[in-house]
Amino acid sequence: MGDIAPADLGVCDAHDHLFLRSPLLPGQELADAAAAAAELNAFRAAGGAAVIQWTPYGMGRGATELPCLARESGVRIVAATGLHQAAHYTPELLDRIRPDLAGLFVAELTEGIGETGPRAGMIKVAGGYHGLDAHTRYTMAAAAEAQHATGAAIGVHLELGTGALDVLELLCGELAVPPDRVILGHLNRSPDLVVHRAAAEAGAYLAFDGPSRAHHATDWRLPDALAALSDAGFGDRILLGGDTTTAGARSVNGGPGMPHLLCRHRERLELTLGKDLVTRFLTTNPARAFAATWARTGGGG
Ligand SMILES: [Zn+2]
Repeated sequence: MGDIAPADLGVCDAHDHLFLRSPLLPGQELADAAAAAAELNAFRAAGGAAVIQWTPYGMGRGATELPCLARESGVRIVAATGLHQAAHYTPELLDRIRPDLAGLFVAELTEGIGETGPRAGMIKVAGGYHGLDAHTRYTMAAAAEAQHATGAAIGVHLELGTGALDVLELLCGELAVPPDRVILGHLNRSPDLVVHRAAAEAGAYLAFDGPSRAHHATDWRLPDALAALSDAGFGDRILLGGDTTTAGARSVNGGPGMPHLLCRHRERLELTLGKDLVTRFLTTNPARAFAATWARTGGGG
């Protein structure tokens, strides 16, 4: 459906999934367009206006379904290119795309996903648990190349929230990606406030997702992490997302899903941080974080 002017993004779930498929999550695929539509409608009814889908290449993104879902729900959707950890793919698939990974990312950002899909609006990659393996380094180098060619932001899955500073050292130090083009995901899963602050000081965006059943052990520390960052003057670095990864987690199936972000979670955060700041987490911050100059196509937005 084309570019979205940052001012038109509106209330944004900055990290979520409408479609997702991985051999690591057997039997839990998000593959049903009708269920995705129902969840989007629930999100819209809760005041939501935009969803950033962090599902990368080869994980059942549902790219051709997204324009229709966006049109019918009235929720803007941003799709992703990029690549997850090797464990999410077959060796054959990786062998096929590795020779020109950056070219694949750039084509999906500037021309479209597959033959008929929409353009991607961000690049999703993944780190490892307190470290970066060869696949991760190769993928991040390709992501950096695509970032330089297009201006698109890079969203990073941090494994259990770890490795934030290793990722910044690689992407921004070695590969010269501007820090404000990097969005670190899942930091709530490793609630080390010193690392959070260092990542924010470096200039990256921090996307806190959940609460979710899978990360209940650290969910209770999420509000305090946001308060600490805000108190330290980094309220403009914070993004919020739901990260719905299984059908059972959808609100329409009795889980928290996308609406929880804008209902209980938002209310809870407003009690300590105030309405204005939380509204910025959900509107102006994502509008800035995901904005791209589209260097290659020369377009606006
Ligand atoms: Zn995710």
